Amino acid sequence: MRNMVIIGSGPAGLTAAVYASRANLSPLLIEGKEPGGQLTLTTLVENFPGFPEGVMGPELMDNMRKQALHFGAEIVTDYVHKVNLKERPFKVCYGDQEVETKTVVISTGSSAKLIGIESEMNLMGHGVSTCATCDGFFYRGKKIAVVGGGDSAMEEGTFLTKFASEVNMIHRRDSFRASKIMQERAFQNPKIKIHWDTEVKDVLGSKEKGVHGLQLQNVKTGATSVLEVEGLFVAIGHHPNSEIFKGQIDLDEMGYVKTRPGSSRTSVDGVFACGDIQDPIFRQAITAAGSGCMAAIEAERWLSH
Ligand code: NAP
Repeated sequence: MRNMVIIGSGPAGLTAAVYASRANLSPLLIEGKEPGGQLTLTTLVENFPGFPEGVMGPELMDNMRKQALHFGAEIVTDYVHKVNLKERPFKVCYGDQEVETKTVVISTGSSAKLIGIESEMNLMGHGVSTCATCDGFFYRGKKIAVVGGGDSAMEEGTFLTKFASEVNMIHRRDSFRASKIMQERAFQNPKIKIHWDTEVKDVLGSKEKGVHGLQLQNVKTGATSVLEVEGLFVAIGHHPNSEIFKGQIDLDEMGYVKTRPGSSRTSVDGVFACGDIQDPIFRQAITAAGSGCMAAIEAERWLSH
């Protein structure tokens, strides 16, 4: 019987593991399909406090992992395919193992949706980004592009005009689905150019030199063109990794785990959630880490009652 099983190994899960292991709870952390989470898809992280020169995303995650191991967390490289949160002790299944536990910390994160072309993945962190807040700063005075037509794309596109000389919004249809007010803000921004009915077919560039352009296609005429940009922000939505919890715990209409305000407590006593799986708004490494700390402390208190 475990005191705590942590599901997911981004900043939230690993911070929970650091705190829980220092509290002598001997947590078991199951890493999941993307060990280290979304930060392993980035290169330089400049906004995580404590690193005045910045730190590489994968290195930051590796250090958090080492820190958790140092204090005695057990980490397994596997993914959880089933849980039973309906009765105690809770059951968590990974590989061919089933483990019983008094508390569960859900930190399975969310994944940015991608267009699905090979070059997009190859150049992720080398000119392709899924986070304007994280990477906008690197594009000062440069021409860039944003894909998407929802509120995220409007918000990121408008935000990026603070840095970029020109923001090309690329949308596959001839109207945006974003709220009118956010659309208006984008329409009125002189730095934003809109490319309707357009798909990105290829991202041009290399890991060494970064992105220098996009191969575009007009979906109505079939005409192709090259747009010279130095960065591509993919803003076509996120999906929370909550499939295995459906029907067992309260999720919101988008599939994010519901937590009580100011807390990591979920609708199930003894189950806590932290990081992007319960946060469709901030999605930052530092907020995820902060909520991981909350989950470990709340779980520890819950166990001692
Ligand atoms: P979203 O509303 O689902 O919009 C996704 C956009 O990406 C759509 O325009 C969609 O095109 C496009 N898209 C999807 N798959 C694509 C693909 N494979 N290739 C090219 N384009 C693709 O997602 P979101 O913008 O992230 O917003 C999610 C939720 O958060 C929404 O409820 C939104 O209102 C909310 N949100 C609110 C704010 C705010 O109020 N400040 C900010 C961000 C998000 P189609 O339109 O053709 O389907």
